[in-house]
Amino acid sequence: MTAFSTLHYEFCIQNITCHRSEFRVGLTRVSGLLFGGDYNPEQWPERVWEEDVRLMAEAGVNMATVAVFSWSRLEPRPGEYDFGWLDRVLDLLHEHGVAADLATATATPPPWLVRDHPEVLPVDAAGTRLEFGSRQSYCPSSPVFRDAAVRLVRAMAARYGRHPALALWHIGNEYADHVLECFCAESARHFRTWLESRHGTVDGLNAAWGTSCWGQHYTAFDQVEPPRKAPGPVNPAQVLDWRRFCSDALLECFELERAVLREATPDVPVTTNFMSILHGLDYWKWAAAEDVVSDDAYPDPADPESHVAVALSYDLMRSLKRRPWILLEQAASAVSWREVNAPKPPGMMRLHSLQALAHGADGAMFFQWRQARYGPEKFHSALLPHGGTAARGWRDTLRLGADLRRLAEIAGTGTRADVALLLDWDSWWGLEAPESMPSDRLRLKDLLLSWYRPLHARGVAVDLVPAGRDLSGYRVVIVPNLYLCTPEQAGRLAAFDGHLVVGPFSGVVDAADQVHDGGAPGPLRELLGLTVDEFWPLPDGRVQRVRPVTGAVTGARADAAAVPARTWAEWLRVEDAEVLARYEGGDLDGQPAITRRGRATYLSCLLDDVTPVLSEVLAAAGVRPVADVPEGVEATRRGPYLFLLNHATTPARMDLAEPGTDLLTGRELRGRIEIPARDAVVLRTGAGPTEGER
Ligand SMILES: [Zn+2]
Repeated sequence: MTAFSTLHYEFCIQNITCHRSEFRVGLTRVSGLLFGGDYNPEQWPERVWEEDVRLMAEAGVNMATVAVFSWSRLEPRPGEYDFGWLDRVLDLLHEHGVAADLATATATPPPWLVRDHPEVLPVDAAGTRLEFGSRQSYCPSSPVFRDAAVRLVRAMAARYGRHPALALWHIGNEYADHVLECFCAESARHFRTWLESRHGTVDGLNAAWGTSCWGQHYTAFDQVEPPRKAPGPVNPAQVLDWRRFCSDALLECFELERAVLREATPDVPVTTNFMSILHGLDYWKWAAAEDVVSDDAYPDPADPESHVAVALSYDLMRSLKRRPWILLEQAASAVSWREVNAPKPPGMMRLHSLQALAHGADGAMFFQWRQARYGPEKFHSALLPHGGTAARGWRDTLRLGADLRRLAEIAGTGTRADVALLLDWDSWWGLEAPESMPSDRLRLKDLLLSWYRPLHARGVAVDLVPAGRDLSGYRVVIVPNLYLCTPEQAGRLAAFDGHLVVGPFSGVVDAADQVHDGGAPGPLRELLGLTVDEFWPLPDGRVQRVRPVTGAVTGARADAAAVPARTWAEWLRVEDAEVLARYEGGDLDGQPAITRRGRATYLSCLLDDVTPVLSEVLAAAGVRPVADVPEGVEATRRGPYLFLLNHATTPARMDLAEPGTDLLTGRELRGRIEIPARDAVVLRTGAGPTEGER
């Protein structure tokens, strides 16, 4: 046991705040940043466990996620439990200063459950039952599954609620990863109950779903089915309600387990590991139901831009509860589920871990601790590779553990952002409904990234916000798209007193996916001062130029370059707004493309590069970057700590605006600095007390 782990024999996760005062059970407390990973000791003989905990202590591991897929080992026969092995694992972890993020093990129902009750197996949209042999083999609506899961969780809570290693409950695992939706008869029944509570009467449902179209008028709820595979396009309002229902049905499973744990161990926080920006689950709603947000993130090492998209998801995780969160899973090097699984070159695993911290995480954990020898993830990398302590990966593990100890003081600090990006799941589900839209090329993640990429490149801090939230305090709010927009949500945007930017195809439909009176932008019409006369989606490969109107925008000169737009354009009827740019050439030649009324800017197209518009809005709003950074360097701030991450494969040179101490090296830095390729600086500056988040 190292000096470090001895010192941390009693530990606390005091800085990851949840609505309870702190993570704490009995004597078990974890301080500083969390480091460790999924630990699956049941895949190894017990003699290996001793080596595991010894090496965990050597690496500075202070938390392990255990029992995620252990249901069949914990309850080998119905109601018959075998906790002995897990008792020994938790005792060993505790003796070596490692806290447990203890999973409820319900992500993988055991064989006996699906054999005794085959109805728990999920069914796809074409009616095919998905068999046992993988994971998540359950229907979220199945009462048999739910009862069995709750019974196991009760037994787990009774057995381990007082165990000194227990620091965090990990409910389920990656909800909706494999089974977001189930189309079985039980799910259909559950869907009808959900619809009845949403719409009240069958006439209410008929009105909301517009069943007068294509002769779908229902006379009883029991005629309603999930949107199974049908001869042609399925009613998009039915699909939208189905998306809402599927997110809610899985959330009910989570909440059933949470209720058991809250009663048994009210002091132990609960989480479930999210999957970055996932289409299937409304994470605003889910985050409100848990104590701590945690995320699994797997940026592709082969994609030189993957650190940008993952930064966006990290900013979402921080924004969900406006608190520090935990990166619960990432890969030490390669994963095993892409067609080609690139490893992380030297430095990238450390840099990606620091990146999560830079965006508000209070821990950098991994899947998994020891690389498996069998199963679908045997080629998925781990903190302790197949090659053991002689492998390159193990040196990276030791280095990261040491770095996280040096960075312990950042735990609990918050981020302040002047810019918010709006992300709303209802609208996303409506936008990406299959087979009924003007273009299926308009994808929300692309729209989000088109704004996030230049903000990230220039080091501007960004929060994410849901539709309908009070936006006061931000200087700029960007709505990449809000296809579904209610009058209440429009009212929030109209009440915002900063600079608002609204992207195309917004304000089109109401909460029931019905087009607003008079068409788009519906309840945003007065705010934006225009009507969309006609949507003008562009065929693949077609480029529509957009040229700024001279003098309309700050810096727009007579020779201002035209910017290409692709995928989408609109024919606007401007009623009360200034035209900032017009379409040039093609069918839309001379028509308004970008407009502004007061502080509200509207873009009717998808520009290849929004930088000219963004720069002008940021300047007008007085938004400053966290730091002036060269290309390839990411800058974020947490309280007084400035993170500078060089994602490039060459060294970066930049000037520091303020001196400080690099926590990673202990060196005092000022003026011109050089950051080696794939390396980072975490500077403690003199910038006043920690600023909390909004
Ligand atoms: Zn089902």
